[in-house]
Order: sequence, then C-alpha cells, then structure tokens
Amino acid sequence: MPLRIESPYENLSGRWLRGNMHAHTTCSDGARSPSELVSVYAEMGYDWLCISDHDLVTPAPPDAPEALILLSGNEITANGPHILHVGAEVAVEPSPDRAKVIEEVAKAGGICVLNHPNWEKHFSHWPQDKLEAMPRKYDGIEIFNGIVIRHEGSPLATDRWDRLLSKGVRAWGYANDDTHSDFDLGNGWNRVCCRSRKVEDILVGLKQGRCYASTGVELSSLETVGTRIRIIARNGSLCIPVVDWGVEIGRFPGRAWEFEIEKLIGDRRPSYIRFEIHGDGVASAWTQPIYLSWT
Ligand SMILES: [Zn+2]
Ligand SMILES: [Zn+2]
Repeated sequence: MPLRIESPYENLSGRWLRGNMHAHTTCSDGARSPSELVSVYAEMGYDWLCISDHDLVTPAPPDAPEALILLSGNEITANGPHILHVGAEVAVEPSPDRAKVIEEVAKAGGICVLNHPNWEKHFSHWPQDKLEAMPRKYDGIEIFNGIVIRHEGSPLATDRWDRLLSKGVRAWGYANDDTHSDFDLGNGWNRVCCRSRKVEDILVGLKQGRCYASTGVELSSLETVGTRIRIIARNGSLCIPVVDWGVEIGRFPGRAWEFEIEKLIGDRRPSYIRFEIHGDGVASAWTQPIYLSWT
C-alpha cells in the first residue's frame, strides 16, 4: 500500500518569521508597559509579537517600532484552564465551560491555543482527560511555555502532545515565552514561513502549521517533497524522529538530514511522525507532525 503524507512543509516559499504569541504587559500582570515590551522584542530581533493580557485585548501601542508586526490577542484566564486567542479583536467571555470558549474562539476567528498543560503541581493545569474532551476546534497546544521554567510543573508538554496526536487529535505545537518579567524574554518562539509580513499571512501560517517551535535551535531549511523530508539546522546537532505515543525511532547526529519517511519508519504503521532537533544545553526545535496514512 502506498504511503500518503500530509505535511505542512510542502511547497513552502517565503521567509521564516520569528515570533512569540504569548506576552503580558502592565495592562494585566506583566512587568513592562505595552510600549516597553514591544521595544524589547524588536531589539531582540523578533519579527512579530502578540500581546496577550489576561481576559482583555490590549491596544497596540502607538509608538510600536515598524520592524515588529503586532498581532492582537488575549489569554482567556478566569474560571478555568487558560486558552490563548491570537488575532482576537475582542476578548471572548471566560466561561467555566471551556468547550464553549473554544467554540466561541473558533467562531470569532484567529488562532486558539491551549496553554501550558504541564504547569502547576502534579503537572495538572490541563488534566489529560479534560484536554482530550475538548472540541477539536483549537489549533494547537503550547509544547513549551517559558514561565513554567520558574514555576511548578514542566515548561515542556511534548508528552501531552504525543498523547493527543496518538489519539487522532490534530494539534500543532507552539513555543511561547508567556512573558511576565524580564527572565521570561526569549526562551521560546515560533518561526512561521510567510510570503509577506502581513498579519494575515502570519495567522494563516500558524493555523496551517507552516511553522516550528524553538528554544534555541534554528533551521535554515525545513521542507518535504513527496515522502521525503529535508532538515538543515544552523546550530542543532542531533535529530530525533518521534512517532505515535512518543516512540523515538532513531537518533541521528549531524547538521543536515534527509529522510525517505517510508524507509525511516520501516515496518511500523504510525499515524504521524515529527522531528526534534537538539543543540547545546536546552536549545531544541520541534517540527510539526506530518500525518501518515496508507491508501
Ligand atoms: Zn496562562
Ligand atoms: Zn500567560
């Protein structure tokens, strides 16, 4: 039976723009004013930023540097586990019924992200059964949330991601700072392949998974052609392909990798494959899943 792949990295053209979807200002509980925050991200060389204060859409500061593209948004916070709404024009009512919130965000448009699943004692901000019970109308989850570095739980949630993906939930993985103080600046970001620097292009790229999450590893090439994938890292040194239920199917040192996916998986029949590229220290990059089926 021939292998069929559904990859977000097919026929890509454009530039990989770097951005953070999740940052707070003094309009909620962040340390910096909106003007200060956008200047700091512009100085760090970011291409785009979404200010996502708690339950309110903070207006773009009038003095924002032109180099930084601003996405509007907010973090739906009160009454339940947190949900990011990127591209929000108005804040969705924070109903304790999170399924309803997801429906409302889907109706409003924009990107819907379930935040920091492994935050809190017992790694339980989003208990797995609750996560799996949500309507499948969200775009993805935070597989990395920087503020949890200094809080209880784990900043990483690739374990939760594999559990969702293995149950057939199609969710992209995003990495965000969740900036509150200066410690949180620049720990995790997303690179989105965009044809222009328009807000709409960034939102579409995030929605279609034409992006990868990073805590320091940058890729100079990421593309699939047919059933082959090619990855070139600027600074990574180990590539790990991962399939259903978090199974690693190899560890490949180097800087550049090209895999024929069918050959790589051998006689396994996974429903997805994703790639982690690891570098020095905590620096990593995570590709989105590529969905596999046989026809
Ligand atoms: Zn939160
Ligand atoms: Zn937050």
